[in-house]
Amino acid sequence: MPEVKKSFWGRLSSFMFICVSLFSAIYLWAKQSPLVGDKNEKIETPTMIEKTEEEWKEQLTAEQYRILRKAGTERPNGTVYKEFKEQGAGVYFCIGCDTELFSSNEKFDSHCGWPSFFDPSKVENVKTSVDHLLGYARTEVLCAVCDGHLGHVFSGEGFDTPTDKRYCINGTVLRFRPHSRTSDTNASNIPASDAP
Ligand SMILES: [Zn+2]
Repeated sequence: MPEVKKSFWGRLSSFMFICVSLFSAIYLWAKQSPLVGDKNEKIETPTMIEKTEEEWKEQLTAEQYRILRKAGTERPNGTVYKEFKEQGAGVYFCIGCDTELFSSNEKFDSHCGWPSFFDPSKVENVKTSVDHLLGYARTEVLCAVCDGHLGHVFSGEGFDTPTDKRYCINGTVLRFRPHSRTSDTNASNIPASDAP
């Protein structure tokens, strides 16, 4: 009889030991796992900036303001597009907040008259929303940091690019910095003869 009793208590304590160990292990895993608790640290959400209309008007040229803040569109095949086509390797930043949006790695010639990219270079800095300004649904492309209008994105047009998407962007609201001079604060100082 005492032997039976002993084995009962023995089994009970073993069971308790396993329970405590298991609980501790789960607790430690949950504490350290990137899936739990750390979520906010893993997702890079850009911090938005907000300015008054007056502040934007002061900072931007009339044409930049019309496009970036009022969802305007630049003239196709204009000077800006000509400059864009001549630009070599480099990065495109938002004219409103200087956030990186696109790069020459995603640039392609769609022959549409506006700067075209098949993807943003920093996905988290570019957001989209649907607009009906022309009477039908189009996907508007916006800067995720200053909420500025950049252009539209079209997909499935048959372009031979990795995404078959055409980010049709107004060059007026992009600031280009060539790779060799990305530390420059004002790309417009670069002489035209530097273009490839
Ligand atoms: Zn911006």
